[in-house]
Amino acid sequence: MYFIYDDYYLKHENGPGHPENPERLKCIKQAVDGSRAVDRLKYIAPFKAEEKQIEMAHDCAYIKTIKNLSLKGGQYFLDMDTGVNQHTYNSALLAAGGCFKGLDLILGAGVSSKFFLACRPPGHHAFPSRGSGFCIFNNAALGAKYAREKFGMKKIAIVDFDAHHGNGTQEIFYGDGNVFYISFHQHPHYPGTGGPDETGYGKGRGFNLNLPFMPGTKEPDYIVSLIDIILPLLERFGPELIIVSAGYDSHLLDSMSSLGLVEGSYWKIMLALSAFSKWVCNGRLGIVLEGGYDCGSTADSVVSTISACLEDSITMKIKNIDDMESYFEVGNDYRRDRVQNHLMLDELKKNFDLD
Ligand SMILES: [Zn+2]
Repeated sequence: MYFIYDDYYLKHENGPGHPENPERLKCIKQAVDGSRAVDRLKYIAPFKAEEKQIEMAHDCAYIKTIKNLSLKGGQYFLDMDTGVNQHTYNSALLAAGGCFKGLDLILGAGVSSKFFLACRPPGHHAFPSRGSGFCIFNNAALGAKYAREKFGMKKIAIVDFDAHHGNGTQEIFYGDGNVFYISFHQHPHYPGTGGPDETGYGKGRGFNLNLPFMPGTKEPDYIVSLIDIILPLLERFGPELIIVSAGYDSHLLDSMSSLGLVEGSYWKIMLALSAFSKWVCNGRLGIVLEGGYDCGSTADSVVSTISACLEDSITMKIKNIDDMESYFEVGNDYRRDRVQNHLMLDELKKNFDLD
């Protein structure tokens, strides 16, 4: 597995006291360096995306705005909480380029089918014409566009487990039936979008899935949603590549949400996605960092994510969704007793013809 990182990602700053700060990435790097997974990771440096490549998902005028603000130096704000400093433009180009580099490896000349990109600034709240919610360029969305343009990938899934709805990613692919965007998030919560009835429009109808969880939701809802809804829909869709928008602010200890995942939850989610990717798309999985603001739990959860991807012996044994159900011991009693969002999940099954 490839681990993509560059010290330059530490130079982008949102201003003093901001939760999206370089410390997050320092903690992740330190935890990964010291983990047992390290021997099986290949460390890779990103390249800087070209301005033209950013235009795959963003307007020229917006790209110029970020470039010019960075050239001026100083500290600027795109909204209440999204900062730009002199290094933001280059760091954002390197973040998108990190995703491109990972895709070059897993779809092209590389020997592994998976990468983890530890980058800043994050991306899933970045719209075509504006950044927001700490995000500048939409790294995961740009990755999907790049995989399509350079490698001819026809069907791509983006799975987003950040605590917040990836409104930018949803908007970019809302009318696109070849990129299936799936988001777990707390609802109601920032940014306000992400209801179960937002399912895409035109050719994109049926290819946008939101799982809005009530505050206090824990791991069982994630596992049951994967087994009952997400994986059956993805199996029907048949992606050639899965990109994960990995945000760890859904952790119990992260004060940016009231969700209750723990390190082991990310391990289970990623083990399920990794096993699934093996039988659907040759194991091709690109994981891109989004949020996660409690340094300790974010770093530990990144290690859990990577470890799950490296559990080849387990994922080989899980060959279909029924196997997964028994591996995680998710029976009917488990569904009834431990899942909190029954009504919403039933509504989704109806919306997506899963009954
Ligand atoms: Zn978030």
